[in-house]
Amino acid sequence: MMVTTHVAAGLLLATPVAVVAPAFALPAAVGAVLGGVLPDVDLFVGVHRKTLHFPVYYSVAGAATAGAALLAPGPFLVGAALFFLAAGFHSASDWLGAGDELRPWERTSQRAVYLHPRRAWLRPRYLIRYDGAPEDFALTFVLAVPATVTFDGWIRALVVGGILLAFGYTLVRKRVPEWLGV
Ligand SMILES: [Zn+2]
Repeated sequence: MMVTTHVAAGLLLATPVAVVAPAFALPAAVGAVLGGVLPDVDLFVGVHRKTLHFPVYYSVAGAATAGAALLAPGPFLVGAALFFLAAGFHSASDWLGAGDELRPWERTSQRAVYLHPRRAWLRPRYLIRYDGAPEDFALTFVLAVPATVTFDGWIRALVVGGILLAFGYTLVRKRVPEWLGV
């Protein structure tokens, strides 16, 4: 799935926080955006879908920090909870997409995301056929709608920008490997 889809999913988790506790809207949104993006930094360092993808550990950390944030609400704990929840959701949902290959529609890779506690790769489920598939864009759009309504200012601008970016990427997705010369 596209990073915009993961960010939109993270912001969907932050939306109820913004509605219930507007004072924590900003840390919740920042945590969600960072958590949605961070795992895919391993595209550039380490092994993609393994080095910074932790479906289990991020989620456990997210549940723990969310519990702590409910007991002792504060901007840092709220931001940390949304960060870990969004990163966990990102890592887990990569399982539902394609493998870690440059042309995922060819389905030659069996590696969707690495499950560290099991020391094994989860096989792609192809519910979203590949990142930048039309259904992936639809998911970005649908997941982002509540955030565009709830948040304002630069967060709303970021979400709208993300939707436009996702749309452009979806249009050219299949030509990207050519452009990269691979
Ligand atoms: Zn990912």
